[in-house]
Amino acid sequence: MDDEDIFNYLDKIQDNDMTYESGRILGSMCTIPDPIGLEAYKKFIITNLGDPGLFKGTTQLESEVISMIGELLHLKVAYGHIVTGGTEANITAMCSALYKFKEENPKLKPEIILPRSAHFSFNKIIKMLSLKPVYVDLTDNYHIDTTQLEELINENTMVIVAIAGTTELGYVDDINVISEIAYKHNIPLHVDAAFGGFVIPFLNNIQNHEILFDFKCRGVTSITIDPHKMGLAPIQCGGIIFRNKEDLDLLSIKTPYLTHDFQTTIVGTRSGASTAAIWTLLKHYGMDGYTRIVENVMNITRYTYENLKKIEDVCVRDYELNLLSFNVKSMDVNSLKEELLKYGWSVSVSEIPHAIRLVIMPHIKKEHIDEFIVDLKKIIK
Ligand code: PLP
Repeated sequence: MDDEDIFNYLDKIQDNDMTYESGRILGSMCTIPDPIGLEAYKKFIITNLGDPGLFKGTTQLESEVISMIGELLHLKVAYGHIVTGGTEANITAMCSALYKFKEENPKLKPEIILPRSAHFSFNKIIKMLSLKPVYVDLTDNYHIDTTQLEELINENTMVIVAIAGTTELGYVDDINVISEIAYKHNIPLHVDAAFGGFVIPFLNNIQNHEILFDFKCRGVTSITIDPHKMGLAPIQCGGIIFRNKEDLDLLSIKTPYLTHDFQTTIVGTRSGASTAAIWTLLKHYGMDGYTRIVENVMNITRYTYENLKKIEDVCVRDYELNLLSFNVKSMDVNSLKEELLKYGWSVSVSEIPHAIRLVIMPHIKKEHIDEFIVDLKKIIK
C-alpha cells in the first residue's frame, strides 16, 4: 500500500472510535492526555528503561518521578517504578507480598484479604499467583467493614488490600483504621489508589477534612497510583510505590546480557515515554495545578449530582471523588444504558450496586452534562 492509502485507511478506522473531546465518554477513568505530557512522551518514545545502562538519563528521570510521587504520598524515600497501569502495579505489589510470605512461611497457603469492591485485576492476580481470596464484607455504604477485618486474619494471611477510590463508586476505604490493624498484626497493607492517588492529595487541599489514605498511615506498605487516570498522562502510565526497599528488592531477577545486573519490574523492555510524560506533568502542574484540575472536576461532579437529584425518578448516591452512581426507578440499569447509547452517551454499569456509573473526568464540561440531562429526561419521561 502507498503511504496515502495507509493513512486514509487509518483515518477511516479511527472514525469508528469514540473521542473524549465529544464529552460523550462518561464511563472511563482515562481522559485526553495533557499536550505537554504528550510532547515529552513522544520525545522519549524510543528509550528503553529495561536496559538502563544505555539510557542513564531516562533511568534518572524514573527515579526522580518515583521520589516526586513518593513525596505526594508522604513518603520521604520511595522505591518503585512507572509501569503500564494499575493492573501491573497491583500484580507487582502482590508478587512482592507473595515472595515475602513464601520466604517466611514456605509451607503455608497464602491468603489475600480484600473487599468485593476491589478492581478485577485482583481476580487475575488471584488466578496467576494461586492465592486464596478471603473477602471482607462491605458496609451498607460500600466501604470495607473494618469491624470484621481482625477475625479474618490468620497465619495464612499474606496481605490486606484496601481501595482509595473504588472503581465502581469512587469510595475510599477507612485506610487509617485498616492500617492500624495491619500494623498490629505485622501484615503488609496494599492500597489500590490507581484512581484516587491523583485526586485525594489535591482534594485534601480544598476541603477542610483530610482523607488519610497514603504512607502517613504507618501500616501501608505499598500503593498503586495511576498517572494515566487523573494524572492526565498518556496511556500507558501506572505507578507502584513501596515504603521499604526490601519489598522492591524481593522482585529482583538477574539480567545477564543487559547493561544492568538485575530488574525489579515484571515487564522487560519498556519505554521511558510514560516516565517522561509524568515527570513533565508533575513539574508543569505541581500541587497548585493539579489542585485546580481536581477542584474543577469536583465542581462538575457536584453540578451533575444536583441536576440528577432534581429528576424525580432518579436515585443518585452520595459521592466522595469525581464518580457518580445512580438508578432510575422506572427502568432497569441495562436498558437505560442501551437507551443512552442510542443517544450517543457511553456510560458504564457497576455491579455492586447494580447502577449507572459516571466518571467525571477532565474532558467532561458543564455543557455536556446539560445535554446529558436533557437526553436522560427524554428517555425516562
Ligand atoms: N485499580 C483500580 C482501583 C482501578 O479503578 C483500575 C482501573 O480502572 C485498576 C486498578 C486497573 O488499572 P489499569 O486498567 O490501568 O490496569
